[in-house]
Amino acid sequence: MNKYKHIQRAAYDGNLQLPKLGLVIFTFGNVSAADHELGVFAIKPSGVPYEDLSAEEMVIVDFDGKKIEGSLRPSSDTKTHAVLYKNCPEIGGIVHTHSTYATAWAQSLRDIPNYGTTHADHTVYDIPCAPPMNDEMIEGDYEHETGFQILNCLKEKNLSCTEIEMILVGNHAPFAWGKTVAKAVYNAAVMEELAKMAFLTEQINPEAARLKQSLMKKHYERKHGEGSFSKMLW
Ligand SMILES: [Zn+2]
Repeated sequence: MNKYKHIQRAAYDGNLQLPKLGLVIFTFGNVSAADHELGVFAIKPSGVPYEDLSAEEMVIVDFDGKKIEGSLRPSSDTKTHAVLYKNCPEIGGIVHTHSTYATAWAQSLRDIPNYGTTHADHTVYDIPCAPPMNDEMIEGDYEHETGFQILNCLKEKNLSCTEIEMILVGNHAPFAWGKTVAKAVYNAAVMEELAKMAFLTEQINPEAARLKQSLMKKHYERKHGEGSFSKMLW
């Protein structure tokens, strides 16, 4: 009996969603699923095309980034996932993509401003862009440091892993997470859509203003208040 089957299945299903949602091409991107009680997560193997993946091939890694089980090499971003799981016990799934619009904002080193109610339905905050790493971090354990780049940015903005479930890594690309893999995949797709809408908003009106507080609050609470649809769903 394989005790990791449930997270391998969740990670596999999540990975297959990425090309279907148009969030990745080729082998870009990776999804992982954690079991905090076992202290491990399952992640996509490195360099394997999505169509060739199988659930059994999802590599099992601990929260220090050490491979526990699996014949293939885990995704090159594994250590970033490990740092996030180790520091955020609420996270059950993580998604990393290079989806076009979100990556364009990351490359522009800009937070995605909250311009409208679609954004406010998911978060009241601008989606943060973590500043690029310093050279010391880049030359060090790069993927490990990417995890701290994310955590440091959240700390700087005074946000917890549950207050915001999406972030841009400056010069790189987006990461999204959630209580479950399904929620993390949902967040990754939503972030791409919000990035696209914000980009178009600035094209149409470079002076566009952020959503006003009252509307922001109204929309967020409508979706996230007690008994709301999203509470039931996730
Ligand atoms: Zn990447």
